[in-house]
Amino acid sequence: MAFSCQRQAAAGRAAPRTSSRRVAAVPRPVVLAAAAAAPAAPAPTPVPPSKLIDGKAIAETIRSEIATEVAAMKQQYGLTPGLAVVLVGSRKDSETYVRSKKKACAEVGFDSYGTDLPADVSEEELLKVVEAYNADPRVHGILVQLPLPKHISEKRILDAISIEKDVDGFHPLNMGCLAMRGREPLFVPCTPKGCIELLERMNVPIAGRKACVIGRSNIVGMPAALLLQRRDATVTMVHSKTPDAARICSEADIVIAACGVAEMVKGDWIKPGAVVIDVGINAKDDPTAKKGYRLVGDVEFDGAAARASLITPVPGGVGPMTIAMLLQNTLESARRAAKGEAAPAH
Ligand code: NDP
Repeated sequence: MAFSCQRQAAAGRAAPRTSSRRVAAVPRPVVLAAAAAAPAAPAPTPVPPSKLIDGKAIAETIRSEIATEVAAMKQQYGLTPGLAVVLVGSRKDSETYVRSKKKACAEVGFDSYGTDLPADVSEEELLKVVEAYNADPRVHGILVQLPLPKHISEKRILDAISIEKDVDGFHPLNMGCLAMRGREPLFVPCTPKGCIELLERMNVPIAGRKACVIGRSNIVGMPAALLLQRRDATVTMVHSKTPDAARICSEADIVIAACGVAEMVKGDWIKPGAVVIDVGINAKDDPTAKKGYRLVGDVEFDGAAARASLITPVPGGVGPMTIAMLLQNTLESARRAAKGEAAPAH
């Protein structure tokens, strides 16, 4: 299982995928062996800043836009957007993520609500908490922090969140609407939404372009491909059973890499001039780094940057966008409530 924005967004940063540091629900070990015996590689040419998509700066701009709208909403409608976060158990990583979300909420002027439940809480008790938040008009978005203890059905809990408060966009009705022509989801999952936002804010044309999405998870790859297709890109999805991924990728004008395999996408997979969005977050052993590791993406950055016209760094690319999109989804929900809008017909 993959981790979502609600699992990883810590102060706008996504948690690295490592065997020791990543969220336990992600079973794949990705710490790369230290290349102790490898000959020293020549230092890569520095990437010109004009090629970099600065997700951190873009996310900060979005947060400040949100804060401005929240202030106006309070004044005009007397309404404050509210995000409820339900935490089950006392996993340190989950506690950190919940704290980050509450901090992010406070920074943009949202109210945040929280319910902390013991690890042995019953599914029925947890459902009651979700239902109470569903009914609470002060709450516009609900997150149940994942992973949940094994005795609780994640599917049942996530399905119980009102689609009108499903700010993670994982409810099957929201996903289904995303996939269907003529339907509009109420919410789009935060990480793929952040990828598209980066492309749009960098004025990257999408319509008519060839796009390759590497990975087909419910939370990143699949919705990213749907979002690109909705914007009239011609999209190819690559997954673990795809033969000749390199050739497919090398034909794309836009690459979104979300396979969870550190530096899998090599420089020569990238068409010269392509735009590369690297969703991956992996920890790579680095004895020269203070922490003994450094973060790398699913794309081999230096090789890809040499060919790409634009590329996201890791960290500082997609990661900061995830929590910004969570705030944006909550604001959208509050906006609907403020205007007394019923949810659009699906
Ligand atoms: P999942 O493990 O859920 O999905 C990975 C996908 O990649 C699967 O569809 C899998 O294919 C495919 N894949 C795996 N190996 C290969 C391969 N060798 N060749 C081609 N495709 C492959 O991961 P997530 O979608 O949750 O996450 C993807 C990446 O994004 C990770 O690095 C994660 O850390 C990062 N992430 C970052 C976030 C952020 O905010 N920046 C948020 C969420 C995730 P198959 O379906 O066939 O198994």
